[in-house]
Amino acid sequence: MPLYSLDDTIAAISTAVGEGGIGIVRMSGPDAQDILRQLFRPSLGVPRDSSLFQPAPYHLHYGGIADPASGEIADEVLAVYMPAPRTYTRQDVVEINGHGGIVALRRILSLCLGQGARLAEPGEFTARAFLNGRLDLAQAEAVLDIVRARTDRSLEAAVGQLAGRLSAQVRSVRALLVDALAYLEASIDFAEDEIPPLDVGRPLAEAGVELHRLLAEAERGIVYRHGVRTAIVGRPNVGKSSLLNSLLRASRAIVTEFPGTTRDTLEETLNLQGVPVVLVDTAGISPAARDPVEKLGIERSRAALAEADLALWIVDVSEPLNEADRAIAALIGDKPAIVVQNKIDLVDGLPAAPPDLLSARCVALSALTGRGLDRLEEAILDLALGGQVTASAPVVTSSRHKQALHQALGHTEAARDAWLAGTAPDLVAIDLAAAVNALGEITGQSASEDLVESIFGTFCVGK
Ligand code: GDP
Repeated sequence: MPLYSLDDTIAAISTAVGEGGIGIVRMSGPDAQDILRQLFRPSLGVPRDSSLFQPAPYHLHYGGIADPASGEIADEVLAVYMPAPRTYTRQDVVEINGHGGIVALRRILSLCLGQGARLAEPGEFTARAFLNGRLDLAQAEAVLDIVRARTDRSLEAAVGQLAGRLSAQVRSVRALLVDALAYLEASIDFAEDEIPPLDVGRPLAEAGVELHRLLAEAERGIVYRHGVRTAIVGRPNVGKSSLLNSLLRASRAIVTEFPGTTRDTLEETLNLQGVPVVLVDTAGISPAARDPVEKLGIERSRAALAEADLALWIVDVSEPLNEADRAIAALIGDKPAIVVQNKIDLVDGLPAAPPDLLSARCVALSALTGRGLDRLEEAILDLALGGQVTASAPVVTSSRHKQALHQALGHTEAARDAWLAGTAPDLVAIDLAAAVNALGEITGQSASEDLVESIFGTFCVGK
């Protein structure tokens, strides 16, 4: 795509594909209104000649969408024309609400394309909102997070970001650094008595404190938004399925159930006090019995672990550990893990921690009776929110912010050290400029085209 041109009119189906009560085709761009006029046949009181139909701004018009060539009506719709600039994209926007079926929506879309609209790229509506200055980059990313939010807390964080909370904080730190940078640059160009003196060390220290705080927030934000991917691993019959079932029953707030991204795993999302815990489950999939390695569940554990931020290693306390247990412990390696000592109802007293994974937390429980389940939930939350588990979010949003904040902090501290050591202002300025730049990448004030493209590329078409 010629990177996000703004001059043409884009169109896409903006609602989810599938059967629904209504579905929306959205257009944005200079020809949106004309295209609507070509296609729309008002039901009441307006002449059939489309050149005479003038949609009133921000009014829902009831009528049909017709093929201009044949006159055939594709669907009965409600259509609205919203003139620039008070729209999502700050351009003229038209939304056509048709019946939710995919065939009807595709017909409407293709009639729009037939009148000169271009099919929108993924995220292009939101990209236009960004390029036209209605949203900054962090806010545009929040739109995606709202669409994907899995718990109330995730939604809250994303809505806050859309409202510009993060942007405002980043901008204020950036402003501190920009002032210091301006002073340094002036002091390179002008004699000392020509500019008011400034102790650059102070704003840099202040910015450093603020950046530390924002980083900690970003860390928790990642956990709340993207959840903690948790692999349940263990050899056959230790109680993986039973544990999964009791966890799901106990928290009762199953947010989603969908097939995993790898062929051999299933995912279920638990809502633990607002933290989406994505259980990557190797249980319930019948092993390919011919393969002896597969039989022990090792390959499936490997697949689940590859994607996980946290491992739950399930062992059966009523039996001694065997080779298969050890092989799975070895796969976990130094990934953050909790050892789940299952089936305590079968033994007297509390079992000793297994020698493998000594550094991991141990929770003794019975998946069968539910005893100890709450301690497991607590342990997962502790690790997730205590910063021990760093979610490797697949989506750019908060991990991108975290990285930018890290860079900004590193450069700010380097600049401050250099300043305190009496380094020449032009050298201090280099680090400071890099810090300013890193923060600008969050809000989009200094984001490269590539970055912008990669962010909006993760959106769905129509958003
Ligand atoms: P998986 O192969 O690891 O998924 O194990 P399952 O969940 O299928 O459990 C294997 C067997 O152990 C089943 O007969 C379960 O009923 C039993 N089991 C699982 N958890 C417990 C437990 O906490 N106590 C007892 N007594 N039996 C359990």
